[in-house]
Amino acid sequence: MGLTALPVGVVLHDVQAGWLAWTWLGLSCLAWPHLAYAWARRSQDPYGAEARNFLIDSAIAGSFLPLMHFNLLPSAVLLTVATADKVNSGVPGLWLRALPGMVLAVLAVGLLTGFEVDLASRTGVILACLPIMTIHTLAVSANLYRLVRRVQDQNRQLALMTRRDSLTGVDSRSHWEDQARKLLDQHQREAAPACLLLLDIDHFKTINDRHGHGVGDDVLRALARRMGETLPASGIHGRLGGDEFVVALPLPVTEALEHAERLRAAVQALEFPEVPELSISISLGLAPPPHGGDLRAWLEVADHALYRAKHGGRNRIERTEPLAATPAT
Ligand code: GH3
Ligand code: MG
Repeated sequence: MGLTALPVGVVLHDVQAGWLAWTWLGLSCLAWPHLAYAWARRSQDPYGAEARNFLIDSAIAGSFLPLMHFNLLPSAVLLTVATADKVNSGVPGLWLRALPGMVLAVLAVGLLTGFEVDLASRTGVILACLPIMTIHTLAVSANLYRLVRRVQDQNRQLALMTRRDSLTGVDSRSHWEDQARKLLDQHQREAAPACLLLLDIDHFKTINDRHGHGVGDDVLRALARRMGETLPASGIHGRLGGDEFVVALPLPVTEALEHAERLRAAVQALEFPEVPELSISISLGLAPPPHGGDLRAWLEVADHALYRAKHGGRNRIERTEPLAATPAT
């Protein structure tokens, strides 16, 4: 508003405006912004108060047009800046709501002053328009830049949150499925080795019941950490839900079996200083991709193997062989 006073003041000087016009310029460009700010600060609804102040800004901009005899450049700058401010506020439709007030102010002040028109903008007026044109544009751009950066940061955080299981830090189920599907595709296209390791904590409900949910959560975190330490870095680790985890390994079954056994033993050796008597074990199902099957079918065969490990006494590994390809006759 302060920058607006410059071109308007130069034109008021050129048209030899009376004291009323000068008073209006001083009040609206120098006093009103502070009043508007204080008004919004004290309001119960600062957001609504700012929207209302914005509408008043537009009416003020409109009121200057007849006072400047519609001098072309400052009039165009004022209308553009006033409308751009409403658009940049992000309040839906605010610029449209500001239009009637702006038009009414043009008509009201025009009727009072006789609608004099002198469109030509001399060099002094053009120069006086430069600060508001450049500074306002740069300030709005800087704000927009900050906003875009914040949205980008938040998008990155959101993407990370949807990719990771917040408790254990392993892949969320949906992200894991995306990654595992890629491994399965590679296996089906290039016969690359692949193996699923499905694992579930034994009697986890009892751990929760006996030691509380907090200790249960510690157990889940410790297991995920141990998986990261024990299994090869090429594995894709995910949490399917509850106490069930899955790892897709780009390895043949025989090698995956060695890693699975190492993990089973490492989990059994886990100690929990806060609950010294607690020891845990896991059951594991191991499965290479079924011929021609999708990820769901792959998980199903791994689940059958896990089921057998559970029913075979827990704390053990069962593996499923791929269904033999039908021999060519
Ligand atoms: P089993 O040996 O047959 O696997 O028996 P189980 O008791 O482990 O049975 P199950 O795997 O069905 O138990 C899953 C339990 O995991 C039930 C649920 O209360 C608990 N659970 C699921 N999500 C969480 C979690 O985020 N934190 C904790 N502490 N417990 C969870
Ligand atoms: Mg369990």
